Parts: sequence; C-alpha cells; structure tokens
Amino acid sequence: MASATPSFELTYSDLPPLFHRAVAADPVANPAFVLRNEALAQQLGLDVEWLRSNDALQALAGNAPLPGATPVAMAYSGHQFGGFNPLLGDGRAQLAGEWLAPDGTRYDLHLKGSGATLFARNGDGRATLSAMLREYIVSEAFAGLGIPSTRSLAVVATGELVYRQRKEPGAVLTRVAKSHVRVGTFQLAAVNRDREALDALMTRELARNFPPAPEGLAPARHFLRSVAARQAKLIAQWMGVGFIHGVMNTDNMQVAGETIDFGPCAFMDKFHPEKVFSSIDHMGRYAWDKQPGIALWNLTRLAESLLPLLADEQEKAIEIAKEELALFMPAFEQHFEEIMRAKLGWRGADADDGERIASIFRLMMERGDDFTLFFRRLTRIAAGEAPEDEALAAWRERAGATPDVEAMRRANPIFTARNHRVEEALAAANDGDLAPTQRLLKVLAQPFRESPDDTDLESPPAPEEEVLQTFCGT
Ligand code: AMP
Ligand code: MG
Repeated sequence: MASATPSFELTYSDLPPLFHRAVAADPVANPAFVLRNEALAQQLGLDVEWLRSNDALQALAGNAPLPGATPVAMAYSGHQFGGFNPLLGDGRAQLAGEWLAPDGTRYDLHLKGSGATLFARNGDGRATLSAMLREYIVSEAFAGLGIPSTRSLAVVATGELVYRQRKEPGAVLTRVAKSHVRVGTFQLAAVNRDREALDALMTRELARNFPPAPEGLAPARHFLRSVAARQAKLIAQWMGVGFIHGVMNTDNMQVAGETIDFGPCAFMDKFHPEKVFSSIDHMGRYAWDKQPGIALWNLTRLAESLLPLLADEQEKAIEIAKEELALFMPAFEQHFEEIMRAKLGWRGADADDGERIASIFRLMMERGDDFTLFFRRLTRIAAGEAPEDEALAAWRERAGATPDVEAMRRANPIFTARNHRVEEALAAANDGDLAPTQRLLKVLAQPFRESPDDTDLESPPAPEEEVLQTFCGT
C-alpha cells in the first residue's frame, strides 16, 4: 500500500522575527540511514513506511524541506559557564518541522548537523557520526528510564567527512522534542527589551506544553512556577540514576522540562558527588551534586527575564519571582528523597530520611562504589538473593525485614549508558559496524529488565576502560 506523505507545520515561525532566521539548504553528498527509530515513529503516529522512504531520507538529511514546513534556525541568548552571550542560535541545526501527533501533542523535528546557519560563526555546520550516535543512544536511554528527554528519530550518514581532531564520518541527527524553547530564548527577548515578543513566547509555550493557569493565578507566575516545578523533579531524576548533564548552560535548559543537549554528559560509574566529565568544565560548575544549585541559578535567569510580565511594578515583580524561586529547593529535596526511598526500598517517609540518605552517599563515596551496581546489589540483598552487607546496617534498620523490593526493581536500572560501552559502540560504528550500538540500544530500551545474554553490559569499566572525559558537540 502506498503511504500518504505526512504533512508538517512550522508554527514557531509565527513568533516575532527576533526568535528565528531563515536557513538556506546545504545539501549533503550521499545520505544514507544509519538508524531509524521506528518504535518512536509509531508512538508519534508518524507513518513508518514514510520514514523508510527516500523522501524521508532526503528531508532528514536536510537536503529537502519536510512537506509543509519551511525550516528556520532558532535564535536565543545564553549564559555559558556563567558568562552571558546575548545572541546565540542554532549554528548547525534547524527546526525542520512540527508534527502534530494524533493525541494533539506537537513535536519539533530538529535536524542537527544539517549545515551552517547565520549563527555558525566559524563552525562548519556539521556534526560527526559518533557525536550524533552518542546523542541518539543517551536520549533513548532516558526514554527507557522514563525520564523526560528529547528523543532521536534517525541518524543519517552524510557520505562526507568532517574535520575535527581527525577526519571523521559526518551525520545528521533528527531530534524530537516537545519544544526547543530554552531559558535562553526568554533571555533573548529580555535582553532586547521586547515585552511583546516575551509575552508571545510565553503564551505559545504555555498553551503548547502546560495546563491552563488555575483561577486567580497570573499566567507569568503560573509559567515560572510550572517550569521550576518540572526542573525540580527532572534534576532529582537525573541524580537518581547518577547522571551528570555536563553543560547546564541556560541555552541548554528547555523550559518544557525535557532533558536536552547530550554533549559532555555521562552516567557515573564510581560514585563521587563532585564528579565532572566535561573536558571544558574545569571548575566543576556542573558536577553531579551541583546540579540543583545550577538549575536554580538558571531559573533565576528565567525569572529575571520574565519580570516585565510578572507585575507592572518592578519591585512587585521581584517579590513574586523570589517567592516562586524559594519553592525550588524544597521541591527538589522532596523529589530526591522520594526517588531515593524507592531506590532503597524504604516504605513510608521519615523526618530523618534526608540524613540517612546523605550517609549512604558518604559510604558509597568512601568505598568508591559503582553507582548503578550499588543499588542493583542492594535490590538483591533486599530480595534475599545476595548476602547482607555489614556496612549497610543503618539501611537495613530503616528498611526493616521486608523492604519494598518491587519499588527497588522499578527504581534501580540494571543498565545505563556507561561511557566505556558508548565509546566502544561509537568506535565500531565509525568502522562501519553498528552491531554494538544496536545491542546497547536494545538493553537501554528496557533498562530495568534482566537480560542474561547481556550481563557484560552491566559491569563497570576495568581501570584501562575508564573514560575520564567527555566532549561537547563535536
Ligand atoms: P552545542 O555544543 O551543540 O550545544 O553547540 C554550542 C553552540 O555552538 C550552538 O549554538 C551550536 O549551534 C554551535 N555549534 C557547535 N558546533 C558547530 C559547528 N560545527 N558549526 C556551526 N555551529 C556549531
Ligand atoms: Mg546547545
């Protein structure tokens, strides 16, 4: 049966021109699918036959527009490692189209590596196959974990080489997100003192991704509160799986609450709260345990940007912003404790749980426990499948004779996208062998389920396999 060509939209272009720029097509020589996420296409109600077609290949390579959509590069500002840059944007990416799923959810299809835009500065507009596969693997790992995240629909090899430290095969990733509006997008309107644009951006984002404001709550206040609430939960979820984002700049924080921008991120192996992987994060600004504070810092930049909408008088607006931001840390702590109680199999809540959890992390740090394996072993201890650990007497005392093993199994993944396995898969893919990538993707789609044939993927790296650094958007 011949499939109907899906029709896309691009309503983002209805926003004031401040927020977007036209992009010229920059075709690639010889596109070929490397990965297609047919399961995701099905979830989106996007025709799988279309995704397999040459039309889709050309569109997802950036060689032809998606039917019904005229692509744009998105403009934004951003604090990067604390320094403000008033004008950034998609340098090597484009918002290619929006897909309205049958359930009414609007998804962005965003191409990364599709060519240089006005924001490319000196960049070539391209991306390496390994960096795009890395994002595909890690974002799909998030989907498996049930943590909000952008998704990956496809990786298309370009048939061209990209020049980095060495020549590497190039590729284009199709990223799917509920929005690509970031804290930095609001900063762009604010730095331009464009209240109308600011209001239009907020109104669109509210309508698209948030429930309506309750009676009596002003839209801007509702928006700030909702964005902060989602971030509080998201950061707690990251930390509960030992995830370090690595580059929490304000242009990499999406306001709808999905994890975005998988550059120098990593799942920790050996636990240390101050762990950093990013090659450019010399100060440990974005370390594992700094993430709640950084999220609040970023949300404070959002609140500042929203001041003109929060109240007519600035004094009053600042007061509202402060009241809303004050809710963040307690909300984060509540989510984090809740997540940790599930991971630890503790039933009910107790006022001393925060202190108990902190001492478990101290023990993990002192012993250099592997983050994922620690909780996996604990689940087995709780289930009576592994011997008791004397160092965990305090855990046992709180857990009692019958810890909540089912909650532990749902909260403690067996598989995470460990760096050494990801690197191994990417090296093979660069040599044309996709099997290790496919195998990783298979276990990461069901990370809580035992997979007897894949137990080698559970293990932490041997000392010589350890990946000490990860790199930004290469
Ligand atoms: P990223 O690390 O992917 O978040 O990129 C940071 C910023 O640099 C974004 O504005 C990108 O669009 C831009 N950028 C990164 N790599 C390139 C490239 N090869 N060509 C053009 N722009 C780039
Ligand atoms: Mg970015």
